[in-house]
Amino acid sequence: MMTKRRFIDWGLEKEVSEAIQELGWDEPTEIQVEAIPVARRGEDIVGQARTGSGKTAAFGIPIIESCKPERTVQALILCPTRELAVQVADEIGTLQGKKGLAIATVYGGTDIEKQSKILNSGVDLIVGTPGRVIDMTKRGHIELPKIGIFCLDEADRMLDMGFFPDVLWIVEKMTERRQTLLFSATFPQEVLDAAEEFTRDPTHVMSEDLEVEVPEIDQFAIKVGRINKMWALGRIIGNMSDRDQMLIFTNTKRMVDMLDERLGRQGVDSVSLHGDMAQNKRERILDQFKDGGKRILVATDVAARGIDVDGITHVVNYDLPDETESYVHRIGRTGRMGRSGQAWSFVSGQEIGMLDKIANTWGMSIPIVEAPELPDGGKELSKQKEDWDELSDSFGMVTVCLSLGKKEANKFALSEWIVREARVPDVTIGEISLGESETTVEVHVKKASYVIDVLKSRKFGGRKLNPSLVN
Ligand code: ADP
Ligand code: MG
Repeated sequence: MMTKRRFIDWGLEKEVSEAIQELGWDEPTEIQVEAIPVARRGEDIVGQARTGSGKTAAFGIPIIESCKPERTVQALILCPTRELAVQVADEIGTLQGKKGLAIATVYGGTDIEKQSKILNSGVDLIVGTPGRVIDMTKRGHIELPKIGIFCLDEADRMLDMGFFPDVLWIVEKMTERRQTLLFSATFPQEVLDAAEEFTRDPTHVMSEDLEVEVPEIDQFAIKVGRINKMWALGRIIGNMSDRDQMLIFTNTKRMVDMLDERLGRQGVDSVSLHGDMAQNKRERILDQFKDGGKRILVATDVAARGIDVDGITHVVNYDLPDETESYVHRIGRTGRMGRSGQAWSFVSGQEIGMLDKIANTWGMSIPIVEAPELPDGGKELSKQKEDWDELSDSFGMVTVCLSLGKKEANKFALSEWIVREARVPDVTIGEISLGESETTVEVHVKKASYVIDVLKSRKFGGRKLNPSLVN
């Protein structure tokens, strides 16, 4: 049997059909094709699909169809963050068209009184974050036992953010629950366990057409040490078009602040987000970014959870994440809904192993490339500096080349002479290799710059040495 691939073939409720037409959506996405017919029959679903694949409508459409505008709560959708709750509520609001369901969003950081009033006035559907839903339940504004449909969106992020105990508390109170829809981009063991526990004889839907689902993200890494990251970032920013937007990840809050400030000093208009900002400030900053008013957002993993901005074209791992999972979450922020995107990672020599691990875990190719050239008239954000640490090998040695042939010197004499002239310890000088007209000398990275300076001003056996660093 052929799977129907057009919304109009499903015979959806008139209002929903019209809304979808209004939106200009032509075909359902893979996860929607798999999930909507099953959910419409009232069955439980455990669904997996990557970010940006249209999960909201996959559960939103069947939920809208199951609810009536009668001002009693019939469905509860839990999301990990306020931003996601707002987005899901918005999308469901749009998808229901003229159906007239009252949808309430329930999340922390806002006026409890106002939210209670809305809930008490009678709503059909609640989209909320776990903490506030519990709070409102305890205050008597939500009656969990009466709600028939439960949807858990982004279960893996809920887990990451430590919300699982809250989710459990809520599920246990939903005694009349007759349908459960659970969605997650990934399925760590805890999410598998939860799926098993919360659902009854579920249909597992996974979007299989990875070809289509995997966004067109070009992934690259640039081998660069700390001191040249700003320079490399400038090269990438310099190649962005006016409509591009960039999300930069660092591993610490301190680094978020530092980078945001440094960018500001270079005249780059950026905003930053981290976990312990007040909710309304977070929201304001995100709005500025979503509107496209700001092109660059600097954030930590935690702060970036739940950011769904379709316009992000560039993701930069200013710091490589410590976990392979985070990498995928990060790059998932770009190239949404078939748009193309670029993900850049800065890796030091020591981090190449981690980069390989990430690439191997997910079967991806992340080539190490040179930083892109600036377009004509482009300005460097920072000058590229000699990075001794990055040039050194695993023994901490760098190679210096001298214009001296094997006829003019022997290893022992040359080594002795350098140690004496530069007044450095013996161990500073490593392997020496004499060629016909050039000689290479290994020098410890800590003294390399100094040794090169000294050799520039000395003559060996009456000859100038013209010392230079070998890359
Ligand atoms: P997910 O929850 O899987 O990350 P979303 O539900 O947020 O993805 O969908 C991502 C984007 O795709 C949203 O902007 C949404 O409006 C849009 N979208 C969803 N389904 C379709 C569709 N069938 N056709 C076109 N756009 C769609
Ligand atoms: Mg989603």
